[in-house]
Amino acid sequence: MPLKTPEEYLESIKKPVNLYMFGEKVKEFWNHPIIRPSINTVMKIYELAQMDEYKDIMTTTSHFTGKNINRFTHIHQSVDDLIKKVQMQRLLGQHTACCFQRCVGFDGANALYSVTYEMDKKYDTNYHERFTKYWVEVQNQDLMVDGAMTDTKGDRSKRPSQQPDPDAYLHIVDENDQGIIVRGAKVHQTGFLNSHRVMVMPTLALRPGEEEYAVSFGIDANTKGITLVYGRQSCDTRKLEDGKLDIGNYKYGGQEIFVIFEDVFVPKENIFMKGEVEFSGELVNRFGGFHRQSYGGCKVGVGDVLIGAAALISEYNGTDKASHIRDKLVEMVHLNETLYSCGIACSSLGFQREAGNYEMDMLLANVCKQNVTRFPYEIGRLAEDIAGGIICTLPSEADFKSEEIGSLLEKYLTTCEGLCAEDRYRVLRFIENLSMGVSSVSYKTESMHGAGSPQAQRIMISRQADFEEKKKLVKKILDLE
Ligand code: SF4
Ligand code: FE
Repeated sequence: MPLKTPEEYLESIKKPVNLYMFGEKVKEFWNHPIIRPSINTVMKIYELAQMDEYKDIMTTTSHFTGKNINRFTHIHQSVDDLIKKVQMQRLLGQHTACCFQRCVGFDGANALYSVTYEMDKKYDTNYHERFTKYWVEVQNQDLMVDGAMTDTKGDRSKRPSQQPDPDAYLHIVDENDQGIIVRGAKVHQTGFLNSHRVMVMPTLALRPGEEEYAVSFGIDANTKGITLVYGRQSCDTRKLEDGKLDIGNYKYGGQEIFVIFEDVFVPKENIFMKGEVEFSGELVNRFGGFHRQSYGGCKVGVGDVLIGAAALISEYNGTDKASHIRDKLVEMVHLNETLYSCGIACSSLGFQREAGNYEMDMLLANVCKQNVTRFPYEIGRLAEDIAGGIICTLPSEADFKSEEIGSLLEKYLTTCEGLCAEDRYRVLRFIENLSMGVSSVSYKTESMHGAGSPQAQRIMISRQADFEEKKKLVKKILDLE
């Protein structure tokens, strides 16, 4: 049965890994209070996939096996699949209000599916068959897969092969009949620790002479030689305190890992690109396109929750009838639905690749993500405006619950008759969390830099824009030569 229950997923990730946090080795990471919310978030994916209500969105039929699978392991077979992907991501954002981590491997797989097909066609290699075999196992076992792209990049003014330290970009350092040995680091690794497997891809378009960097492969996340360092997030140590209200979104959260590969062996059958430099750019672009499409779903779902929190706090503050508050809420919805429109639009104009799978429209996916680098900041600014300065002056939960001063704080934090001061406290902390706490990483910084920083989309937009065609339009209308 391909669909794992949330409990089965939890049991399946309980494996030793070489993980560090705050300079110390972490054992049984699944019990760590800073990490656990990120695991709860992934469990939510498995939970919703079990529910009849969400079956159509969360699950689908594998085109490989005909079995019912989690949509996060699907290779898109139609425009409808592309649209449902975005709807699923919005749904999960609504349920967790953070990054649910499972889209990167999903997007990487959809990019690799067509790129491996095209590489085989040109070079008579067998990458597509290897990848298919690997991915059927992922579907059959309902595995969580990370996608590892971003290298540390060293000196940005130099190419990978010119770096003073050749490991600034992950590369092949040795090779034998059985496989390859790789070294380097992949950073900003969303959900790596919570994943069973990882798909490694190059970080940029490579050139002849840079073959050792043009490498893509699948590997188990706890393979020997992989060291993980847990990324800090703003206010993360609030999760170590007694009580939970100061955390804001105390059930769920994202996760980012610094991953170091020290001479890691990759068996031949799991290698999906090795030296084909001219396909590295296509892989990066297709993955980037799929992940930029994703943001038109996931960030919209989180936006829905933040708009809900802003509406709720205006009610708790007694400002909900003020026309300027209504107008700000409408503006938040307008911005949020614009992002969704972009996600749906690039999916609706999807097309079929030669390999048979469907891909989103590249120009509109990049426009989608470019808007995502801006609108969540504006939505967040409006939420802070509506909530009031109290989101960053509020005393701690320990004071709020103190026997000595708790009742005084409660008295002065109470607003409208019949409303509970603690509910107001919770919503204020929740907005703080999304604006400047742990979840601001998911909602803001990821919106800026995830799936490529703004300039990466502008480059793609300029490539896809076809200015010559636009100039011709004017010439035609004005009868110009
Ligand atoms: Fe998925 Fe969004 Fe997180 Fe990327 S940022 S992994 S698209 S939830
Ligand atoms: Fe992301």
